[in-house]
Amino acid sequence: MIRENIEQVRKNMEEACRRAHRNTGEAELIAVSKTKPVPMLQEAYDAGIRDFGENKVQELLEKQEVLPKDIRWHMIGHLQRNKVKYLVDKVYLIHSVDSLRLAREIQKEAEKKQVEVNILVEVNVAREESKFGSAAEETLQLVQEIALLPAVHIQGLMTVAPYVEDPEKNRRIFADLKQLAVDIMRKNIDNVNMNVLSMGMSGDYQVAVEEGATYVRVGTGIFGERDYHKGETI
Ligand SMILES: *Cc1c(COP(=O)(O)O)cnc(C)c1O
Repeated sequence: MIRENIEQVRKNMEEACRRAHRNTGEAELIAVSKTKPVPMLQEAYDAGIRDFGENKVQELLEKQEVLPKDIRWHMIGHLQRNKVKYLVDKVYLIHSVDSLRLAREIQKEAEKKQVEVNILVEVNVAREESKFGSAAEETLQLVQEIALLPAVHIQGLMTVAPYVEDPEKNRRIFADLKQLAVDIMRKNIDNVNMNVLSMGMSGDYQVAVEEGATYVRVGTGIFGERDYHKGETI
């Protein structure tokens, strides 16, 4: 089932690339495995997935411990400053940096461990009250401030769009994130790349790919619905 789901998602992504005249392969798939047990991740791995997304530090580290070493682990959830020290040398990309305080903590721990950390700045494009992320109009300033931290490297932007029945409703949000990245790129800020756009989830990843996503984050569409009541995740 997982293998078939992955093949379907990949096929949909390729078709979305074709519709948007993008090269297939410009958009990569992150399998969002939060709450899912290790055997399911192994199944996805065996079907070719090398990028996994988790939203809790502890869960990410426990899974990393027992799964193949060539996996790229993506932290996609809200990150508390007191957890940064466990994560900085373990993670491929942190998608959810939305404050200078958090970025400074990452800098501090990266320096201690002598590592460089790649991050995305999370933007609350949809202006949802309940969501994390920097306001779009404050993002440039945040990027300029984070850029001064020598061990923290901004690679692009990330957004979490609202849950909608009709994915077309999120097209504007994805287009706005892309435009924001283009605007920031034009400023040519030292230590800042805008090559990565992490946007699109199970319900709307095709639209996100059409609008320029370089990573889509798909959970349900690969692993099925999450059950938050089971408690046991490993
Ligand atoms: C859970 C989650 C996803 C995946 O959501 P699905 O709808 O299951 O594909 C993507 N991004 C973030 C930040 C998430 O927390």
